[in-house]
Parts: sequence; C-alpha cells; structure tokens
Amino acid sequence: MFDSIKKIFSSEDDLPVNTTGKPNISREKSAELYAKAKTYFPGGVNSPVRAFKSVYGTPLFIEKGDGSHIWDADGNEFIDFCCSWGPLILGHNNAKVRERVIEVMQNGMSFGAPTALENELAELILKNNKFVEKLRFVSSGTEAVMSAIRLARGYTKRDKILKFEGCYHGHTDALLVKAGSGLVTFGETSSAGVPKAFADETIVVSLNDTEALKKAFEEFKDQIAAVIIEPIPANNGLLLQSKEYLQFLREICTQNGTLLIFDEVISGFRIGFEGAAGLYQIKPDILTYGKIIGGGLPVGCYGSSDEIMGSVSPDGPVYQGGTLSGNPVAMAAGIAQLTEVLRMGFYRDLANKTEEFTASIQRFASARSYKFKVFTIGSMFWFAFTDKETITKAEEIDPASMDKFKVMHHELINRGVYLGPSGYEVGFISSAHTKVDLERAKRAIFDSLDLVFNTK
Ligand SMILES: *Cc1c(COP(=O)(O)O)cnc(C)c1O
Repeated sequence: MFDSIKKIFSSEDDLPVNTTGKPNISREKSAELYAKAKTYFPGGVNSPVRAFKSVYGTPLFIEKGDGSHIWDADGNEFIDFCCSWGPLILGHNNAKVRERVIEVMQNGMSFGAPTALENELAELILKNNKFVEKLRFVSSGTEAVMSAIRLARGYTKRDKILKFEGCYHGHTDALLVKAGSGLVTFGETSSAGVPKAFADETIVVSLNDTEALKKAFEEFKDQIAAVIIEPIPANNGLLLQSKEYLQFLREICTQNGTLLIFDEVISGFRIGFEGAAGLYQIKPDILTYGKIIGGGLPVGCYGSSDEIMGSVSPDGPVYQGGTLSGNPVAMAAGIAQLTEVLRMGFYRDLANKTEEFTASIQRFASARSYKFKVFTIGSMFWFAFTDKETITKAEEIDPASMDKFKVMHHELINRGVYLGPSGYEVGFISSAHTKVDLERAKRAIFDSLDLVFNTK
C-alpha cells in the first residue's frame, strides 16, 4: 500500500508548480483512493475520461456537491463547470430534486412493473415538446442511441447508418467508428472489439460539408436507414453548425426516405426545453435524450412520432426492453428537475448569465491578443486555443492546442475552479452558479490565461 501511494506522490511531485504563489493543492486522500481504485477498475475509473489522462495529476475523488460547488476527499473546494458532464442544470444536491427522490424512495426502489411516475415524466415532456409524440425510457444515453438506431433500421428495413466525424453518441458498437481517409468513407472502428462488419454498415462524413452528404446519398442510394447527428455537437469541442446546414440535412434525409436522428443527450433540456430541435425549429424523425432528463440519476429516452414508435415492441417488431427502465426513483429526479426548468424565464436567465461570463472572458483574451476563443451556446461553453473565428469540423481543432488547455486546467484546479479534465470537453453553467461564483471563476481564468500565454 505504502509503496503504491509513494509512487503516486512521486508522480504528483512531477506536477508543474503553479503561479498562485501557494503550493499545489493537497491531493493525499484522492491519491490514496486512486491507488486503491486502480486495483479495482481499469485505469482506476468507471468511465475513461475521469482518469485525468489529458491533464496534469491524478483524478480528484469527489466527496460532496452543493449548488455550484464540489468538495474533494482532501477538503478542497471548487466551483464546478463539469456538472456531472451536463445533467446537473440546477447544480448539485438541489433541494427540490433531493426531496422528491427521498419521498419516492420511501415506497421502494424498483418494481419492474409500471408506475404512475413514468406517466408523470412522460406527460411533462410530451406536453412541452412538440417534436415527440411517444417515447420510451431507458437507463443511459448510450442505450437511447442504440435503441434509436435499431428502431430506424427496423422501421426503414435498411441497414446502413451515417454519422459525422466529431460527434459522440455513446459507446454502442455501430457508432464507435471514425472516418477513414476520403470524402465519404466506411468507418474504421475506433475501439477494439467492434467487428469490422459492423463498422462497414456505418458511413462517416465531415460535419458542415453538403457535398460529402450528397455524395454519400448517391453512393448508397436507398441503403441509408438513418443519419445521426448531435445538432449541437458538444463532445469534441463545441462545433456549432449553421441552421442552413441542418435544414439541408433534414431535406436530403426526407428526399431519400432516410430517418434523421437528433442525438440530444447533451442539448436536450439544455438549450431550452425542446433542445436544438426547438432552437432551430427543425423536426427530426427520432430524438434521443439523456443527462438532464434524469436529474442526476440514470435515465435515457428515445422518442418519435406515434407511427414510428409503433414499430417498438410489444406494439411492433423492434425489440427493446430494460429491467430498470422507468425506475421510479430516477423518474422522480427527472420530474423534479424538468418541473424546475419549465419555470418562466429559466433558460433566458441561464443563457444571459452564460453570455455575460463568456463575453467577458473573450474580451479579456482579445484585448491581450491571445489566440483564444470562447465558443458558447445557451449555458454551454468551450475554451479553444485558436485564432479561428469559427470551428465547425473536428478536423479544424489543432491537437497541439491541447497542451495549453492542460496548463490552464492545472492552474484552475489550484485556483478552485473545476473544468472537465480534457480540452475537448465543454463546460456547463447551472442555475446554481451565482454572480459571485462567476466573478471568482473569471478572475481565475484571466490569471490562468496570462500564465498560458506568457510563459510559452
Ligand atoms: C453523453 C452522451 C451520450 C452517451 O450517454 P451516456 O449516458 O454516457 O451513455 C450519447 N450522446 C451524446 C450526444 C452525449 O452527449
């Protein structure tokens, strides 16, 4: 035990000094927990990005969260912009969500039989979202996407799907596929264990490229079951697409009898209650949700028209089920959270707050001529070390710029600001982030930027 801890400490010693004038924050307890975790889990984690491989140091083990703040095992306090990767739009440990969950838990945790809570969450969604007529609850975003793909294939009786380089859709086999070389390519698997035969059914093209799309539809005429896109790609930087491009996508799918799937696992209930579909007023054929929908508990969902959902079992031939699907405790968290976001002005206030925060950071960076751009939409933001005005494709991100993010991340950790541990991840602002939090965070970000740009 002692030896493994010592090893981690010596790697901790490799941490660069920071410029706060104080030593690096203490990570003794986190390091101890991480040493143990590494004997239990691959890489010491239950989801890879948590392992801090793209930033300095080892993962912080979080002990509690409240509002916009989290505390790690060593008692360090941070203003949190990861927000559990997006689900916590009301911040940590929201009282309304917590109380509803506790109330429901008093009656038991799971029945494997229908409950009124499933109806309640469904009604809340369907009454306030004109893009979905019927839905099915599952337990994660990955599961929602996997089911949506199967539904599209079952409904259209076609096998191929088309996805975009730079969009993430969870870890379902068919979508762990990246572009090969060329305008339109069969995907190459991006994970071991995905049969080549699966990847052969997935076509990959660049974002924001109408020619590539046209070519794909010519080459694979009447074979493409579905096109899947994050309408606001937010898993590989924030690659904002134009409304015109998304409209083009809608039209080309319609012309070819291909279903358009909007994967709104991040953007759903984040960019307004109706997500990106509502923002752009574009109606996809199938929608997937996750993250915010479960109020911090594991919930995913896919939905479509009454007619298309008629293909799902037991009504139709497309099989999909789940032991814990529609779990009452998870439904309760979702109901409580979605009830809050439906309050008048919720999204406007959140977007205004984010806009003020990001604009002020951009002004600071621009005034100093730093090659730094804050991309933002709604309550999401992405820090890009670039001088490009727009970035709409994965290929436009310079991998070398991630070195700068790494330094910034280290400086911010030491200044009590927690960002997701990779420069490809976006940040999230919750309704719990106060003016004081954002002012404090801004100052930390300014100092970190000065360091990043003046020491290199
Ligand atoms: C997070 C995410 C997923 C996967 O959801 P999990 O709950 O992690 O399985 C799928 N699609 C998008 C767009 C996501 O952001």
